[in-house]
Amino acid sequence: MNVYDGERMAELMAAEGMTATDEANAADLVVLNTCHIREKATEKVYSDIGRLRKHGSDPMIAIAGCVAQAEGAEIVRRAKVDVVVGPQAYHNLPKLVADAAAGKPALDTDMPAESKFGHLPARRRSGPSAFLTVQEGCDKFCTYCVVPYTRGAEISRSFARIIDEAKALVDGGAREITLLGQNVNAWTDTDGRGLDALIRELDRLPALERIRYTTSHPNDMTQGLIDAHRDVEKLMPFLHLPVQAGSDRVLKAMNRSHTADSYLRLLDRVRAARPDIALSGDFIVGFPGETEAEFQETLRLVDAVGYAQAYSFKYSPRPGTPAADMAGEVPMEVMDDRLQRLQASLLRDQKAFNDAAVGRTCTVLVERAGRHAGQMLGKSPWLQSVHFDTDARIGDMVEVEIVAAGPVSLSAVERMRAAA
Ligand code: SAH
Ligand code: SF4
Repeated sequence: MNVYDGERMAELMAAEGMTATDEANAADLVVLNTCHIREKATEKVYSDIGRLRKHGSDPMIAIAGCVAQAEGAEIVRRAKVDVVVGPQAYHNLPKLVADAAAGKPALDTDMPAESKFGHLPARRRSGPSAFLTVQEGCDKFCTYCVVPYTRGAEISRSFARIIDEAKALVDGGAREITLLGQNVNAWTDTDGRGLDALIRELDRLPALERIRYTTSHPNDMTQGLIDAHRDVEKLMPFLHLPVQAGSDRVLKAMNRSHTADSYLRLLDRVRAARPDIALSGDFIVGFPGETEAEFQETLRLVDAVGYAQAYSFKYSPRPGTPAADMAGEVPMEVMDDRLQRLQASLLRDQKAFNDAAVGRTCTVLVERAGRHAGQMLGKSPWLQSVHFDTDARIGDMVEVEIVAAGPVSLSAVERMRAAA
């Protein structure tokens, strides 16, 4: 979502006559779009500001994103920055930049009921794979998580606006659209339609080849959405469905409102609808009070699922969340050890998933040039990175045979070029 928000901020500033540069030294304005989810991400902001200021070019610095939302004026006290803008206020970035240039204070962390999306410029250009935010915020209040405080309450964009933006992205070159939301499968509209209705409508856009969505919550996984995985060919066989832990006591303390068993039964239903679906998840080790036996329940759940890929984190206490005040802090070396063991299991399963692809044919959407001349890189339907030699161009759909698998990517040979 930060990538999406970053693109939208770049488009806003482009409408003001600015152009993007990859050279921080050459920039008049640097926008740091920040993440507050774990302490490490937050601290990175301050080291990045320090690095930018050391170069001597002295650009205007704007802090956007969830650190801006959570820390607000505190950032201005701690570091030399010009603009602070929260994730629900960034449509005001051009005005804030103008204010800062005029020497006025420039801080906006409002969360207006009226959505920022109505104030953003129309989409014009897109890479082959585009993001599209359809839902924001969270009402789930998992006890470890800052998202409900930094992104605000759950809101869904309107059906018509989303379809308009999707059409603009496809006209601008997108072949794949990933629908985004903190709880994307909680998307709903005033007619009571769910994410599956949106997916079925996108399916009707002829030039759109692929649809994905992320991130989902197990409790919002409706039968309609599961059925869409059975019916809609453009909906890719991949589901990122975070579980966080395998112990029901820990899940309850996290306020996850699902159990290990209800999660596994849900996956059974998803697999019944789409047997080849690749599963992905998020995990937290070392939640307050987590015992070794409870951690082993996470390992057992991982064994039972066989994830194609996953993200795993050490628990990071976040100020203002209920878990930050819970007793039973897990020592850092215990967390390190658990994370290593968990990641070994996840990597084993990821490798097995990739190995199983060897010998199969599949379609790859070409996203960029590879390391050597003639090599291109793209994604399989199961979100694996695939590289192969071809004279296909970015945005082409190419049928390949997978010939070798590494832990993080596959190599392939081209079979025949699908008509572009
Ligand atoms: N809405 C999504 C995820 C949003 S945050 C969901 O509920 O699945 C992305 C991931 O960051 C979470 O799934 C969780 O695994 C991790 N995370 C969130 N807060 C954390 C914390 N305080 N410490 C460690 N990891 C955390
Ligand atoms: Fe955070 Fe996701 Fe839980 Fe919401 S559902 S509180 S975003 S982990």
